[in-house]
Amino acid sequence: MIRTRVTEILGIEHPVIQGGMQWVGRAELTSAVANAGALGFITALTQPTPEDLAKEIARCRDLTDRVFGVNLTFLPAVNPPPYADYLAVVVDAGIPVVETAGRSPEPFMPELKKAGIQVIHKCTSVAHALNAERLGVDMVSVDGFECAGHPGESDVPSLVLVPAAASALTIPVIASGGFADGRGLAAALALGAEAVNMGTRFVATKEAPVHDRVKEHLVASSENDTRLIMRELRNSWRVSANSVSTEVNKRLAGGADFAGVRELVVGTRGRTVFESGDIEAGVWSAGLVQGLVKDIPSVAELIERLVREAEEALVAHASRVTV
Ligand code: NAD
Repeated sequence: MIRTRVTEILGIEHPVIQGGMQWVGRAELTSAVANAGALGFITALTQPTPEDLAKEIARCRDLTDRVFGVNLTFLPAVNPPPYADYLAVVVDAGIPVVETAGRSPEPFMPELKKAGIQVIHKCTSVAHALNAERLGVDMVSVDGFECAGHPGESDVPSLVLVPAAASALTIPVIASGGFADGRGLAAALALGAEAVNMGTRFVATKEAPVHDRVKEHLVASSENDTRLIMRELRNSWRVSANSVSTEVNKRLAGGADFAGVRELVVGTRGRTVFESGDIEAGVWSAGLVQGLVKDIPSVAELIERLVREAEEALVAHASRVTV
């Protein structure tokens, strides 16, 4: 059993978090993570309306009586969602923990704190983590350059970002980006983090509500098979390498603006990938850790193995090293 401030504050068994993932963070996965003793997040914007989010939260509560949270990501969007309405649903539902991401949570902090919600802010630099701490968030999740989705523009990998944040902050730090197995969890703890946040690893689980071909594609892919797109737009996005990501980069290198690639990157095409299993249907987030994903276990098997391997790695390390 690995206990940290994160497990104590959140009331979970294991220092493992399933972070927000567009189109994947639904009740099936989040409840399985909760039932396995870790913390899962329903992704608010995967639900087309705030009313649908309320229904998804209710569906998750039918599947687990344990704690789970909601992810609210504030990034540029083709159709900017009514964030305040999504947040109102979260508050009304009595959700105890929210993961914010994409930009500063400042406008939403008064309402989140008034409702007594624990806030975990996910960010990609120490400066943003310090700002979030000043704003009163309860923990930060620092997302290294290895991560799937939006890694920011400063390109600092977890091996540096995690200890730099842990040294600079007082509140607990969660290591995100590059974590998929027990060795990673042990390393994150050694670097000063108090939990790991994983996305891609959870996509390749039995309960993830995505087509089997997507899971099999992650298993077959290596750490060399992701691409960074939209760097020119300062909205970098790490996605699975495919013909669409190649075309996006070609157009942007040729001087296209967002309008010139919008039809390729629009989120509804990513949703089609996850639903149909056609991995060429659009761009879809994938992290470097796909190179470490070798199987499709149940969520419970994955978390049990992760914690056991981490404990073994910590013990083996202690017995191998003389100080
Ligand atoms: P979408 O169709 O709104 O946009 C697709 C992609 O284009 C996203 O990466 C978005 O950030 C980007 N984009 C949109 N408008 C842009 C602009 N004017 N300039 C530059 N980039 C632009 O995406 P969606 O799938 O419907 O999701 C809605 C929002 O939620 C997006 O901002 C998405 O990034 C975000 N989100 C991301 C995650 C994650 O895990 N990375 C999770 C939840 C939500």
